[in-house]
Amino acid sequence: MLTLGFSLQFSKEAHLSVNLISQMLDYNCQAIEVDVSNIKFGKVKELHTLLKNFSFLSIHATEDIKNSTDFYEKLCPDIVTVHPNFLSRYLNLPIPNEKISVENMDWRQTNGRYPEEMKKIFTDNPKLRFTCDLNHIYTNDLTMKSGKAFNAFSNLSHYHISGFGGENLPHCPLYKTRQKVIAESLEKTNRPIIIESFDSDDISNFRKEFDYIASTIEELKTTAS
Ligand SMILES: [Zn+2]
Repeated sequence: MLTLGFSLQFSKEAHLSVNLISQMLDYNCQAIEVDVSNIKFGKVKELHTLLKNFSFLSIHATEDIKNSTDFYEKLCPDIVTVHPNFLSRYLNLPIPNEKISVENMDWRQTNGRYPEEMKKIFTDNPKLRFTCDLNHIYTNDLTMKSGKAFNAFSNLSHYHISGFGGENLPHCPLYKTRQKVIAESLEKTNRPIIIESFDSDDISNFRKEFDYIASTIEELKTTAS
């Protein structure tokens, strides 16, 4: 079975999060990522009880170290995803390096877009893990050829996946964009997969997105074997 689930940014309505997480659990989502900028800290106890039911929990840190570290201590996640542009702030904190996973970036950033740039980060800090964002690879390389090199990183902790709807809609649901090339470039199906699409109009749409991605990846596994 795939360890597949969502980033809570799927719904912008933070007050819906507890409701949304419960629905995701009922739908057999196995993984989850909490964007700490999207959650009210007052809800953290209630969240922790629910989040313990997932087999993989990631938190997405922000530049606000204090907030991110508080969430790390309260939620005890498997991994903390950070972006290269604020990584240096996270290297000397109580969060151990092996719990920190650095994400490759989309076309808007100046560092972390290509395999060689990520390689340099991991050579400098060998204990760090890698969050492979397939959507971000796509924004720099529509052919997804560089996906091979990204998939080959031995420290790959988990994937981020979503569709690309252009500059104004950078993280669209894949069930809408149907960019199969993005899902097809996922190679390590035994790693957790976090769906990072934005689709706030109707939270029940998460089921369409889950089913589309799960069936596309399952199809690939069948063809490959
Ligand atoms: Zn991402």
